[in-house]
Amino acid sequence: MRITNAKLIKTVYEAKDLPPLDKKEIAFAGRSNVGKSSFLNTVLGINAAKVSSSPGKTRSINYYLVNDIYYFVDLPGYGFAKVSKQEKERWSILLEAYFNQRLNLNMVFLLLDHRHLPQDLDYVMIEWLRDLGIPFIIILTKVDKLKTSERKRMLEQIKKSLSVYGDYIYIPFSSKTKEGLKEVLDLFSKIFGE
Ligand code: GDP
Repeated sequence: MRITNAKLIKTVYEAKDLPPLDKKEIAFAGRSNVGKSSFLNTVLGINAAKVSSSPGKTRSINYYLVNDIYYFVDLPGYGFAKVSKQEKERWSILLEAYFNQRLNLNMVFLLLDHRHLPQDLDYVMIEWLRDLGIPFIIILTKVDKLKTSERKRMLEQIKKSLSVYGDYIYIPFSSKTKEGLKEVLDLFSKIFGE
């Protein structure tokens, strides 16, 4: 898919503010610091670049309108060390409402750091998606930080640790070298039937 334009159209803090289900959408999830903003900037192009640098946006669901016909949804990152219990609850209430309400959600891209095994909250997210029957694809970020031999070893280990949940597509990605960008854009085409 060629992305010709992408703009942030809505920042949602409460489920009641989610936009109508009038467009196909895909969503992006991951731990904070996994590289989600960098991934979205790489994929969407410079139009979105501003957004990642606004700190207030990290706890909201950010809706991008892409090519005027699709919603790309940046879900709030999880796993902040210094987040209050109240904030965590707010996160799970918002996310739960999001996953339950968005019948137009076609796919979730779950971002994991290629250098590490999935952590507790990644498993929570995976089980959540699996239990709700929401399909997802795994993006392994920051692949440029690994040597070839380490890449292979980590890919095998990550796959093995998630094999009990199912058989998934794994895409190594780097927003630095743009490795994986073509694969991601090809997947968008497939998902949207373009
Ligand atoms: P977010 O919190 O998930 O949105 O993560 P960011 O996109 O803000 O990235 C967190 C940190 O990782 C920043 O310092 C980025 O520069 C760095 N980073 C993100 N993606 C990559 C990547 O593909 N390669 C490298 N080397 N660094 C990355």
